[in-house]
Amino acid sequence: MSKLPNTTTSIFSVMSQLANEHGAINLSQGFPNFPVDERLLEISERLLWGNIHQYTPMAGLPSLLEKIAQLTFKNYNRKINTATQMLVTAGATQGIFTAISALVNKGDEVIILDPSYDSYEPSVLVAGGIPVRIALNEDYSPNFNRIEAAITAKTKMIVINNPHNPTGKIWSEADFEALELILEKQPQVLILSDEVYEYISFLHPHISFHTREKLIDRTIVASSFGKSLHVTGWKVGYLIAPENLMLEIKKVHQFLVFSVNSLSQHIISEYLDVVDFNQISKMYQQKRDLFQNLIKNSRFEVLPCDGTYFQVVNYKNISTQNDVDFARELIVKHGVAAIPISVFHNDATDRHMLRFCFAKTDETLIAAAEKLNSI
Ligand code: PMP
Repeated sequence: MSKLPNTTTSIFSVMSQLANEHGAINLSQGFPNFPVDERLLEISERLLWGNIHQYTPMAGLPSLLEKIAQLTFKNYNRKINTATQMLVTAGATQGIFTAISALVNKGDEVIILDPSYDSYEPSVLVAGGIPVRIALNEDYSPNFNRIEAAITAKTKMIVINNPHNPTGKIWSEADFEALELILEKQPQVLILSDEVYEYISFLHPHISFHTREKLIDRTIVASSFGKSLHVTGWKVGYLIAPENLMLEIKKVHQFLVFSVNSLSQHIISEYLDVVDFNQISKMYQQKRDLFQNLIKNSRFEVLPCDGTYFQVVNYKNISTQNDVDFARELIVKHGVAAIPISVFHNDATDRHMLRFCFAKTDETLIAAAEKLNSI
């Protein structure tokens, strides 16, 4: 019997392939189409000839772990023990899967807030856990009444994604305080905080679980160098967790991956000496503003985007079609690929929303907007 009977080819692959077939502008999948930093290429070229091709230690290249610790201290004022609290992973996806496999037992419930990133539920199911998917509010802020009501004696974990894919919503101080109040009474509940867009926050600086003293002793934070260094194909990320949880996570990691590819770890370790993460939000804010401005007179309704590189739009003034059909038509007839939001809901809630990725060159955004404006 299949462990994942409802899992089919991911919508991201489906839409990207359809976009390729029809030569559409691909604003569907979440990856940049601009060139990577030349300094990264220069470091890659130079290091390639060195002694960097064999296994690294299981938890990660020591120099990289050290630099991640420095980064976490600089950004969040949190001191991390590199030997016991940190793990380099093959992207955040593997980190999330590994953490769930290690910590969720058969029959444990895991709360997931919908719309949600597509890897959470399958990770829970493979571990034998029970995904409990509850809806965010209409404006995509967390609904704490629903969260509280969903917690039972079997609740093992709540998965939180902030800044949020697909909606671009970010958590406020009040959101954290509300969660802290609820979880005060629920000491058994762990938090898996997916913060892969931690460097893309426009409304206010990103608030990380790294800074939440009340919850940090039971939180696993997932980060992604793919997202923060614009190299999604490298698939390198990391987890930071309390020692007791990390011990279990490492047990699974060593048999799933053992050590993450050495080349990327060496290159990223050196690149972290020169890269400036403060520039990332600024760069993406310009792209967000450009894209929002370009389509503001279109028939699409542009929703707020406070973080990430995703823009959600409502197309109810254009069509009554369901969002998957409309997204297909957008590719085939109009030459632009997007992701329908219903696929992020377990009950396929369809509010006529699409997600566009604006991590693209200005030329790409201008060309896409021209097509969207003509609809
Ligand atoms: N979480 C979220 C919310 C994401 O959007 C993504 C990438 N699309 C990931 C995790 C996966 O990150 P990585 O590529 O590092 O596995």
